[in-house]
Amino acid sequence: MYADIIIDITHEKLDKVFQYRIPSSLEGMLEVGTEVVVPFGRGNKETKGYVIAFSEETDYDPAKIKSILRKDSGAMAIEGKLVALAAWMKEHYGGTMIQALKTVLPIKKKEKIRQKRTVRLLLSENDGKQMLDTYLHKNQKARARLLAGLLDQPVQEYELLTKKLNVTAAVIRSLEEQQVLTIEYEDALRNPINYQKKECVAITYTKEQLTAIETFIRDYEDGERKTYLLHGITGSGKTEVYMEMINHVVKQGKQAIVLIPEIALTYQTVMRFYGRFGDRVSILNSRLSAGERYDQLERIRRGEVDVMIGPRSALFTPFKDLGLIVIDEEQESAYKSEQIPRYHARETAIARAQMENASVVLGSATPSVDAYYKAKYGEYVLFELTKRAKGQNLAQVDIVDMRQELKKGNRSIISDQLKELIEDRLQKKEQIMLFLNRRGYAGFVSCRACGYVVKCPHCDVSLSAHRGGRLVCHYCGYETRLIEHCPECGSSYVGGFRAGTQQIEDLVKRMFPEARVLRMDLDTTKSKDGHEKILSAFSNLEADILIGTQMIVKGHDFPNVTLVGVLAADLSLYSSDYQSAERTFQLLAQAAGRAGRGKVAGNAIIQTYSPDHYSIQMAAKQDYEGFYEAEINYRSLMGYPPVNQLLAILMSGSEEEHLKKAAGYLKEFAERINWQKKLVIIGPTAPYIEKVNDRYRQILYIKSKEYRFLIEAKDLLERYIDMNTGFGSLRIQFDFNPMNTM
Ligand code: ADP
Ligand code: ZN
Ligand code: ZN
Repeated sequence: MYADIIIDITHEKLDKVFQYRIPSSLEGMLEVGTEVVVPFGRGNKETKGYVIAFSEETDYDPAKIKSILRKDSGAMAIEGKLVALAAWMKEHYGGTMIQALKTVLPIKKKEKIRQKRTVRLLLSENDGKQMLDTYLHKNQKARARLLAGLLDQPVQEYELLTKKLNVTAAVIRSLEEQQVLTIEYEDALRNPINYQKKECVAITYTKEQLTAIETFIRDYEDGERKTYLLHGITGSGKTEVYMEMINHVVKQGKQAIVLIPEIALTYQTVMRFYGRFGDRVSILNSRLSAGERYDQLERIRRGEVDVMIGPRSALFTPFKDLGLIVIDEEQESAYKSEQIPRYHARETAIARAQMENASVVLGSATPSVDAYYKAKYGEYVLFELTKRAKGQNLAQVDIVDMRQELKKGNRSIISDQLKELIEDRLQKKEQIMLFLNRRGYAGFVSCRACGYVVKCPHCDVSLSAHRGGRLVCHYCGYETRLIEHCPECGSSYVGGFRAGTQQIEDLVKRMFPEARVLRMDLDTTKSKDGHEKILSAFSNLEADILIGTQMIVKGHDFPNVTLVGVLAADLSLYSSDYQSAERTFQLLAQAAGRAGRGKVAGNAIIQTYSPDHYSIQMAAKQDYEGFYEAEINYRSLMGYPPVNQLLAILMSGSEEEHLKKAAGYLKEFAERINWQKKLVIIGPTAPYIEKVNDRYRQILYIKSKEYRFLIEAKDLLERYIDMNTGFGSLRIQFDFNPMNTM
């Protein structure tokens, strides 16, 4: 038996894997991640490495392969644990071990740690004065200036000193050599947040909060490590519950990771954690410089950090003794990676927690159907927070049927009711948010007179308009011609919805010329901090109306907003994937929750062409449970996740014919390995975006009752792809339970 070993866990060295023989004395004692000592290089220097894989054969001359010397004694180092996690990810999501390791191991490049230098006078006052006389006598002006400064103040910061007294490094060095002064070095690890500790006001937890906290603590004390789902509307006190749980874990000398979607990772949120845990909190986000990142890792290595807050990638924080992983807003699609391995932070967090004996807490106001399903089946423990901690009222939500507006002769995208409410709020000097739901918009075609949407007869997802007047199903490849008249009512008002935020801004300005309007979308947030600038301008009451895409519904509190208008609520409903209803419900519930965070209860208006759809009805009632029941029925009927598991195989290549042929072969192979009929194979078909960067794309779906059958299929398919040179020019990715519209 042979083991693949990586010697150096820095990023640029990860590609270098070395094979070693496993001596009989170590047989059965090694696993992926085990730290071993091996002879390395010409001098056979004893070097530490990590096992990343095993094999029975070797491509090298077996006589020349060196043997592993021994296993490193002691517990598995954190690097080893992360290597083991990478192996789990490779197994579950496909791709190579190197790709998985690069995702998991944090060190990009060794950055030099900045040092703080302090200059200290070594001479007594008398000796110093004598020396000063000598310098003056010899006309050594710079030395005299430096010494006089130090006699004034014997300990000073190096950088300040050189600037203030205008002396060079050479002058300081010469005084150091004469033992007049000494330079002291200290690591200056930057902390990305300017920390001011606030007095924490002790709060009395509600009964529901206490149930969650006490159950968690009891389990933890009993050595039980579980996954919990905390379902509570915004403002119900979830963050307070996380902090109390973290506090318990930290008191045991363990560390906690808190994942928050980048968009919700605001200054206020981070400051709450600082207020509670002081500067033993660190953050990782995309705005940190490489140096600041490195400093955080160094602080972690030195045990100076207990709580790490960050987006998806913070999951791989190299804590030595991890106790808890919290994932806030667990339903967010940002937790799914778009790069290989296409891991989901929720599943990966649970895997890491199992390996390191930690607990996981998932939190959401609108849990993913997947997480709620698992909570219902007892795989997760469910806690419910049903009331707002500060007792604010929920908004009054009304659904406006846009088909009726058209009948009344109003062809505008703003309904009469919404228009009246906007006028009212402008008069009262209260704020308004208009939200254009473009999420997952993929060219569906509908009738504006009756709301009819053209769907696939086989898959119950909407068809997408492709070029050349075709309507295509992204799941099975079904095709039909673009319609000109609605088959239900005969109206010729059929087509895709095209209005963008820009057009809406123009319209709003024309309708309400006195209103101050801000727009937030990809265009207006391109610049660095563009996002923050718009939000803070709105929050400082510099505008009356904020218009935006889904960016505006997340993570920010605007107490003065008392009206939220959702334009075209259906856009996300008919995007062509099985999660469109879930996404619609989440967005609408969040949008409605925006109105009335302050003292006044607000209004929300949901404009739609399908007012009867359960996702819209339940969002208006803010009824998660009702939505879930309807949705899980649909998923079981259609065999979609979480009831069944779904694997998407994405293929791309520069030659269309070749790609299609290869996709066909892959399907045939999938059918051949399906002799037990555990899999359902669908496709291959072209996704909505058929070509990217001159590469054509095809997609093949495999459904199964159980995840492990899909993993088995993936392993076999990977091997088949590796062995057949015909696949060599194609890019092939595996995506389990895909979350984004292709
Ligand atoms: P969520 O994370 O669910 O949105 P938060 O934890 O942010 O909710 O709580 C909303 C607000 O209510 C915060 O200002 C929080 O400090 C406060 N809060 C939470 N729980 C309580 C409580 N038991 N008593 C008083 N205030 C509370
Ligand atoms: Zn119609
Ligand atoms: Zn179909």
